[in-house]
Parts: sequence; structure tokens; C-alpha cells
Amino acid sequence: MQAWRSELRKQVLILVSVCLVGYSIGQFLPALLLFLVCYVLFNLVQLHRLTKWLAKDHASDRSAPPEGFGLWGGVFDGIYRLQKQERRASAYLENIVNKAQESSAALEMAIIMVDRNNNLDWWNKATESLLGLRYPEDRRLPVTNLIRDPAFTAYFGRNVYDEPLHINAPGDSGKRLEIQIALFGENERLIIVRDISQLHRLELMRKDFVGNVSHELGTPITVIKGYLEAILDNIQDLDGKWEKPVIQMHQQSSRMENIVKDLLALSALETGTPSRKQSSFALIQLLSEIVNDARQIFAQQDHQFSLSCDENIKFIGDRGELYSAIANLVSNAAKYTPYQGKINILIRLSEDFLEAHVEDNGPGIEAQHLPRLTERFYRVDVSRSSETGGTGLGLAIVKHIVNRHDGELTVSSEVGKGSCFTCRFPLSRVKTDGRDTVAADERAETPATLMDKLSQASRH
Ligand code: ATP
Ligand code: MG
Repeated sequence: MQAWRSELRKQVLILVSVCLVGYSIGQFLPALLLFLVCYVLFNLVQLHRLTKWLAKDHASDRSAPPEGFGLWGGVFDGIYRLQKQERRASAYLENIVNKAQESSAALEMAIIMVDRNNNLDWWNKATESLLGLRYPEDRRLPVTNLIRDPAFTAYFGRNVYDEPLHINAPGDSGKRLEIQIALFGENERLIIVRDISQLHRLELMRKDFVGNVSHELGTPITVIKGYLEAILDNIQDLDGKWEKPVIQMHQQSSRMENIVKDLLALSALETGTPSRKQSSFALIQLLSEIVNDARQIFAQQDHQFSLSCDENIKFIGDRGELYSAIANLVSNAAKYTPYQGKINILIRLSEDFLEAHVEDNGPGIEAQHLPRLTERFYRVDVSRSSETGGTGLGLAIVKHIVNRHDGELTVSSEVGKGSCFTCRFPLSRVKTDGRDTVAADERAETPATLMDKLSQASRH
């Protein structure tokens, strides 16, 4: 502002002096005209020098602007100052981008950015070795063209990515990958891929180990239990002091037998052994069998069972496995609900899902336990569960079976009011007409362990 005022003062002074001189020599108008022409010329020259300097390639030529006169000097310096500030800011940003690129290149996990049209935008170096992407050929190609696994396509198509996806590396089935997607910006996606082959191998070893140990333990336990049963049959021949220990040994050996059977069932489910038979069968018939069995086995508890299911609904899946899953839930409801409880089995068919609910009005489960219920050996109240003969494997088995049928298991519960376990299946697992493709007596294939468990629970 100061410079502007002094410039104005200077120009007015020159103008007044020129006018006075012109007036004194009788040439007022020509003198005024001369002043204006000189003023315009001066400004044109300054403007020309500025445009010439601005036209230079400032990336290579960083020379300062020419010396400006009057107000123009301030304009030249101001532009130069702004230019220097911008250079500093872009150098700073460039440095950050370089560091981000260098650090992402040093990462062992693959990081891929996908634009809103699902095309590959950017990826780090590890992506090239993990997924075989090539730069720049694959840039702008749809990501699902390059990772062709159908599981990935289905996962990518979802917009909720709570759980990571595990797949084999494209073109290398020996390599196992964990994929996690995060949404950012305007429907853009960040895909993070980790090589979990080592973890996967360890997990397989653990599952094999549990499977083998359970298998090996089966025979000795059966022998011990057999001898104990024989001793119990002739208990009168023994000294009376042995009666209680032998009964307890027999109970515990039955418990061990059930744990081993459950572990074997779980290990078969975990190792992805394919379901024995995929068939369609009437759901009401399967549920009626479960309810009838539970009524008999829990007769002493005098529970009130109710079943609501449309007669036309047919389920497509492994009948034995589904029997095991629902019966596990019914057995839990019956086991943990005190005398004369109400146990409802409801099947609801909506436009999107088939839901099987097993409800009870038992003690309920505190909220902090709900997320852990399906972990192996997790029991809410260890003393209460061991009274009822539980091992904590039942719900882990249910979860696996439901997942194997593309469904999910959820639990809602209120302490003092009861619990509701829901198995939700997609409609692809449902048929509402047509003949069954499975004979009703396939129930004989259902795991014996459940019936053992039910009867054992009822004995306590
Ligand atoms: P298993 O079924 O292997 O014989 P379990 O019944 O103890 O043993 P889960 O079926 O996995 O094991 O159940 C885990 C725990 O969840 C149980 O120990 C129990 O504490 C709790 N639980 C399950 N169902 C109910 C229910 N309907 N009401 C109250 N608590 C329940
Ligand atoms: Mg159970």
C-alpha cells in the first residue's frame, strides 16, 4: 500500500511538472499527450519483460525475474516469491511420495490401489512377485481379470470386507494368500495381500495333529470303557468301596470318548473333507426327528418343545451334518434350560434367507461371552458345563457345518430371559417343491456322538 501511494505521488508530481512546463511554453496539450504516451510505453515495456520471463521453462531455468521499475518491481518480486514457495511445497510433496514409494517397495505384502471402475491404478513391487502383475502392461486393466479366482471375484463384489479372504496364489497352488480390502476415496479400493503359506502349513499340521491324536486315542478309550462297562455289569462281585470310583471312571471315559468323537468330527469339518452327500430333504421331517429324540432323552426335564416349519420347505445339503448342527443347538437349549423350560424351533423363509431359530427361556448368556461361544472348548460356566457333561466343542461344530452350507450362525441372548441361536442360509440352499432326493432313513448316518451326548447330558 505504501509503495502504491508513493508511486501515485511520483506520477502525479511528474504529471504536474510536465503540465507546468507545457503551460509555460504554451504547449500544454502536446506536453500532456507526450506524458501519457511515455507512461503507456513504459508500462508496455515492463509487461513485455514480465511475459518474456514467465514464458521461460522454470523447471530448468530458475533465473530471477528482470529488474522491475516502480510498482512493477513489486509485481516481479511477488511472483518470484510465490514461485519459490510453490517449488518448496512441491519438493516436500515429492519427497513424501518418494518415501511412501520406497517404503511400500520394501514391504513384503502386496498393496494395490483400484480405481472406482475396478481397474488397477497403482501397486507396489511385492505385487509383481506375489500376483504376477506387470507394470505398465496391466495398468488400467480390471483387477478381476488378473486375479481370476471366483472366490476373489465374489469377495471383491461385496462392499463389506470385515473378514479377510484366503485363496491360493494365481498360478501357484503351493502359495496361500490372505486378501483384505479397504474402501477409500470415492468408491476406490486398497487391496492388501499377504503370503500366509507358512501359517497355512502350520494350521494344516495342527489340524492333522488333532485329527491323528483323536483317532489314536479312540481305540484305547473304547477298550477302557468296554472293561469298565463289564465291571459295572458285575459290580456286586466287587468290594462296595469300589462302586463309586468305577461309576465315576465310566462316566469320565464316556466323556473322553465324546471329546474324541467331537474332535474327529471337527477335524473332518476343518480340513474341508467334502460333505458326504448333497441332497434335498424335507426340513420338517428332520426337525421332527430331532424334537422327538430330545423329548425322550430330556423326559425328566419336562421341557415344552414346539416346532414351526412349513411342510413344503426342502433343504439342499448334507442331511447328516444339518441334523448334527440343529440337534447340537436343541441339545444345548435342553441342557442349559432348567426344569419345565420352553424350547421353540422356528423356520422362517424370507425373500432373501432361510432362518432356523432355536430359542429357549433358559438362563441366557452374558454379552461378553457371545463372540467367543464358537471357539473350541469355550464354555461360559466351566463348573456348570462339566456338570452337564459339555466339552465346549458343540457350537464350533455347528458353526463349521453352517458355514459349509454357505450360512452363518448368530446368537442373541438376554441374561435371565433366554437365548436364541439362528442359522441363516441363502435361498440357493432351499427348494419349496419337488420330491426329496434322500430317503428318510438316511438319518442313520447322523453322527452317533450327538445321541451319546444327549443321553449323557440327560443322565446328570
Ligand atoms: P458340547 O456341546 O461339546 O457337549 P458344550 O455344550 O459345553 O459342550 P457348546 O455347545 O459349544 O459346548 O456351548 C458352549 C457354551 O455355551 C456352553 O458351555 C454353555 O455355557 C453356553 N451355551 C450354549 N448354548 C446355551 C444355551 N442355549 N443357553 C445357555 N448357555 C448356552
Ligand atoms: Mg453343546
